[in-house]
Parts: sequence; structure tokens; C-alpha cells
Amino acid sequence: MKLAIVGVGQAGGKILDRLLEYDTTRNTGFVEHAVAINSAKTDLTGLTNVPQSDRLLVGQSIVSGHGTGTDPEIGEQCVREDIHEITDAIGRVAASEIDAFLIIAGLGGGTGSGGSPIIADRLGEIYAEPVYGLGILPSTDEGGIYNRNAANSLQRFVRSTQSVLLFDNGAAKTGGETLSEGYRDINDRIATRFGTLFSAGEIEAMDGNIAESVVDSSEIINTLGDGGITTIGYASEQIDTDEGGGLLDRFRGSKDSDGLQSSGDATNRITSLVRRATLGKLTLPCEPDSATRALLIVSGPPDQLSRKGIDSARDWLETETDCREVRAGDYPLANEDRVAAIVVLSGVTDVPRIEEMQELAVESDAEIQREDESEFEALLEYGDEADRSE
Ligand code: GDP
Repeated sequence: MKLAIVGVGQAGGKILDRLLEYDTTRNTGFVEHAVAINSAKTDLTGLTNVPQSDRLLVGQSIVSGHGTGTDPEIGEQCVREDIHEITDAIGRVAASEIDAFLIIAGLGGGTGSGGSPIIADRLGEIYAEPVYGLGILPSTDEGGIYNRNAANSLQRFVRSTQSVLLFDNGAAKTGGETLSEGYRDINDRIATRFGTLFSAGEIEAMDGNIAESVVDSSEIINTLGDGGITTIGYASEQIDTDEGGGLLDRFRGSKDSDGLQSSGDATNRITSLVRRATLGKLTLPCEPDSATRALLIVSGPPDQLSRKGIDSARDWLETETDCREVRAGDYPLANEDRVAAIVVLSGVTDVPRIEEMQELAVESDAEIQREDESEFEALLEYGDEADRSE
């Protein structure tokens, strides 16, 4: 699927940069155009893969290139001030060249949190192509302000896009020792999951292998639907690529009449990968049966993509999600040594993390109000003392 991707703010820019690397090294070709937008100059300078001409510093008259200090209202102002430059930069690619727009942002900060819904609204007004969000949720321990920013931004982002795909930083704790190592690991995971999804169906990467049942961009667009939240599950397994036979022969079993893999092992591997993808760590943990639409993609070497395995995994997913709309397909990649399953659950409603974030937002608002009141009282007391000393 061909995308024009916009990374807004620090997290948005870094994840866009990582997706570009994924796209280039794997020759998948799903990034048709990439633009990084930020109010902090140093964050833009730190990017590696986004071309210099596609980095845009916004809100200079408001924050002089120093960022918003985690204030989404300032982020919104910065984006509004330069909205024409932003749409011009995104519009450098012809809409006919892309299937959709994708706006990436950390929702807990300032520029991405406040600015992304404004950009989404404007793209929606100008273009007929769908506009999707990829929102990064702060982890719970980042504190009230981040969670409050994210809760508010998410509401607006959902209203201004066709679907917001969410990734919860808190559900992706890694072994990285420092915060930046942690983010590097997390951004790798984000790139693998969303990169695999968006590259599905891109013919260049398939290298002449025709998928049995291609997942094209319209299948992805229909699954993401119009309105709501999407989460993604991913699981993969290394396969033995030794052509020498022996263990491999026993592993692979015999081919069916289409020359496709139909052994019990390849079939079982697919069904177990799809179960792991759905019941393991989703990018946003939720109850799978609260989804309204689901999509399943299995990628890997063509001889490992057992039709029977994909069909029975789809049946299992239908029961597990209780969805009538479950799409499924394969994505043959000749040079891969892994079989991977991506499960997309769209229109999900039972999401404990969002409820928790809303509660933290209410607490944070109450805390801010208490602080405002005590500051006000302190001011009044100061006024009284000043009166008395006159
Ligand atoms: P902005 O530049 O004002 O839009 O703010 P940020 O993009 O820094 O947003 C802050 C949020 O993004 C926090 O919740 C961070 O946890 C998260 N964040 C910052 N950098 C990264 C990153 O590289 N990867 C991920 N996954 N999250 C990040």
C-alpha cells in the first residue's frame, strides 16, 4: 500500500525515520513520500533518513525553534501558524500516487499531540484518500500530564481520521538500559509491525512471487474502516532455510498439487503464529472480541504459506473475535527466513488502557485545578499582607 507519511513532533519524526529505513533496506516501497514536522529544531536535525527538503520547522514566531515544552495548545498554535506550508510539503506527491495518508505522533507530548489532529483535519478537507493516524501512547508511569495530553489528543485524532492505529509504549517494555535504548527497541518493533502491514501487497518486494490470495490496499482500507481505533498483533518464527534435506524435508513435508506447502508442520506453524499474534502482546492490548473487523496476513517464503493453514487460522480468528468481517491473505517473500503473522483488529472498544488514561487525565485536571486554586489563594493572601503593610 502506498503511503504519504507525516511524522509530527519528536516521536513522530523518529518513527518515520525508522520506517523509512525499514522500507529502504527491505525494498518494500510503501513509503511514497515522507515529511517530518516539528517545532523543535534539534529534533529535526537529529533525523537520519528523512530528506532535508522534507523537514519542516513550524511555529518559529511562537517558540523560536525550541519546541513546546509538552504543551499541546502551543503545539496546535505552531501547526496552525504554518498549516499552508505543511499542506504544501505533504502535497509534493500527487494524490493519485498514494492510497492513503498516515500521520505519526506521540500523543503525550506537545507538538505531535496538539498538531496532528489539525493536520489530519486539513488533509481530510483537501483529499479524498483516507487519513490514518499512528498514535503512540505514553506509558502509565510517565505521569498525569502525558496521560492527560494523550487522552485529549486521542479523542480529537479519532474524530479527524478514518482510524487511529495505536501503539502503547507501556505495553512494550524492553530490556534497553537507557530511555533512548528503550525507544530504539520500541521503534524497531513499531517498524516491524506497521512496516509488515503496509508493505503487504507491494509487488516490488514480492520479487515476482504471486500471492495465492493477495492482500491489497483496498483490503487494508476496508479493514481499517471509517472511524475508531485499531490494534495490531505480530508473531514470527525463524525457519530452517537449509536446502540440504534431512531435518528440513521432515519439517516441510510434501507439497500439494499447486506446489504449495501443505504439510502438517507448515499448517500448524501458521495457526499457532496467528494465535500468538492475537493473544500475545497487541500494540494496544484489548479484548479481541470487541473488534468489528479483522485482517490476517501471513508472510514468508512461498513454500511455507500453506493455504490450509491460513484458512484454518482465519476460522479460528473468526471465532475468537466474533467478527463476521475477517479478511485473510498471504505475502510471499522469497528471500525471507521467517514466517510472520500480522493480525489487524479494527473498531476495538474494550480497551482498559484507554479507560485508565482517561481516569489519569481527570485526576491530572483536578490536580491542576487544586494547584491553580492554591496559587490564587496565595496571591490573595499576598494581597492582604501587602494591604496591611501599607
Ligand atoms: P513532541 O515532540 O512535543 O510532539 O513530544 P514527543 O514526541 O517527545 O512526545 C512525548 C511522548 O512520546 C512521550 O509519551 C514519550 O514516551 C514518547 N516518545 C518520545 N520519543 C519516542 C520514541 O522515539 N519512540 C516512542 N515509541 N515513543 C517516544
